[in-house]
Amino acid sequence: MSNRTFSIGGVHPADNKISRECKIETLPIPETVYIHLGQHIGAPAKPVVAVGDKVKVGQVLAEPGGFVSAYIHSSVSGTVKSIAPRADLAGNPQMCIEIAVEGDEWLEGIDTSDTVITDFPDEASVCLEKIKAAGIVGLGGATFPTHVKLSPPPGKKCDMLIINGCECEPYLTSDFRTLLEKGEQVAIGTAILKHILGVDKATIAIEDNKPEAIKHMKEVLANLRKVSTRFAGICVMSLMKKYPEGGEKQLIDAVMHRQVASGGLPIDVGAVIQNVATALAVYDAVQKNKPIVDNSVTVTGECFPRQANLLVRVGTPLRFIIDYLGGVPENAVKVISGGPMMGRAIANLDAATLKGTSALLFLTREQTVRGKESNCIRCGKCAEACPMGLEPFLLNRLSRAGGMLDALEANAVQDCIECGCCLYSCPANIPLLDVIRQSKVQVMGIMRARAAAATAAKK
Ligand code: SF4
Ligand code: SF4
Repeated sequence: MSNRTFSIGGVHPADNKISRECKIETLPIPETVYIHLGQHIGAPAKPVVAVGDKVKVGQVLAEPGGFVSAYIHSSVSGTVKSIAPRADLAGNPQMCIEIAVEGDEWLEGIDTSDTVITDFPDEASVCLEKIKAAGIVGLGGATFPTHVKLSPPPGKKCDMLIINGCECEPYLTSDFRTLLEKGEQVAIGTAILKHILGVDKATIAIEDNKPEAIKHMKEVLANLRKVSTRFAGICVMSLMKKYPEGGEKQLIDAVMHRQVASGGLPIDVGAVIQNVATALAVYDAVQKNKPIVDNSVTVTGECFPRQANLLVRVGTPLRFIIDYLGGVPENAVKVISGGPMMGRAIANLDAATLKGTSALLFLTREQTVRGKESNCIRCGKCAEACPMGLEPFLLNRLSRAGGMLDALEANAVQDCIECGCCLYSCPANIPLLDVIRQSKVQVMGIMRARAAAATAAKK
C-alpha cells in the first residue's frame, strides 16, 4: 500500500469496481450512428461532408472550428443521412451527423492490425501533427484538445509528464482494463508524449487499489527499456486510494509535491497531465494512423444484469449498448454518464456516445435517495473534505443569500472542481455541490466578461 497522496481534503468512498474482471469486449456496430460536432472543449467542429456522401471509417467528417477545437471522424462506413441538431446525453440539442451503416470499410492507411510498433518518428512536430489530425482530446473527462495542451505557451516549460491512471471515481474500470490489456501501447504512447514535450521524466500514476495494473506496467516498461532508451525516465508510481486523486491539481500535488495556485494551470508548475485512454489514443494516432473512432466504456451498477467494459464506436446510441447487455433493469431509476461523484445524469437514452464517454452507471431508487436536508450544524466536515481548500458551508450560505457574487468570487467559488466531496461529507444532507455549481457558473460568467472588457479596452 502507498501512503503517497494529495495533501488537502479528499474522501474515501467504497470503490465498487464490480466490473474490474470484465475484459474489454468489442461491441457490434449499430445500424446508425449519431456523431456530435461538439465533442470537445472549445468551438464545435465544422462539417466537411454533405447529406448523401459515402464515408469510410476514419474519414474526416468535420474540421476544427477554432484554435481550441478538434477534428471529428466517421466511426463507421456508410451514407450520411442528415446533419441536424439532435438531443445529447443531457437532452440539449447539438449539431450532429447521422450515418446509416454499410459494412465496415476503413480508410486506406489506417493500420487495424494488433501488431505493436515500438519505434516512433524522431520529429516531435510529425507526432504532434498526427495527434491533431486524429482529433485526440483529453479522454479523462475534460475533452480538451490534446495538441493544444502539448504546445505550452511561450515562457512556460514542462518538466514532468504525468499519465493519470488513478481512475479514482467509484465503479469505473475502463482505464484499469486498458492498462492490463493495452499496457504496452499506453507505455509507447507515454514515450511519444514525453518526446513531444521534450521532458526527461514521465510518471504513470496508479492508485494502490489496482496492484495488478501497477505490477503489469512496471514489467511492460522494464521490457521496453531493453528495446530502446526512449523508455528511460518513465516510471510507475503507486498512490494511496483517495478521491479525487485524478483531479489535475491533486495529482500534481501527489506526484510532484507542487501546488497550482488559484486560477493557475498545471503548466505553471511544470506539469502536463494526460489520461491513460489518451496515451493509448496517441499510440493509435502516431503508430497506426488511427483517429479516435472508438473508446472503452464501463457499463455497470449493482442492478445491471451484466457488467462490462466495451469497445464502442463513437456515436453509438445508448439504447443499442444497453439492449446488447440485456436491457434496462426494472429497478434502475437513474443512469449516469461517468462515475457517481462527478458524473452527470443522462436525460435521454436515445442519445449517442461521445469520444469522452467513459461509463454508464445504473442506480436504483435506494442508491439515489438523498437524506432529508436539515440545518447546517457547523461541523466543518465539508471544509475538511474539500480538496481545493474551500469553505463549502460559506459558499452555500453566500449562494443562498442571493446577490453575493463579489463575496463568492473573493472566497474562490471559481476554484471549485465540482468533485462532490463536500456533499458526500455533509451530515445535514445539504445539496452543497448543486448550489455551489450554480454560483460558480455565474461568477465565471462575470470573470469572463470582465476579461473581455479589459482586452477590448487595451485595443
Ligand atoms: S465540490 Fe467544490 S466546494 Fe465541494 S468539495 Fe469539491 S471543490 Fe470543494
Ligand atoms: S458539512 Fe454540512 S453541516 Fe457540516 S459545516 Fe458543512 S454544510 Fe454545515
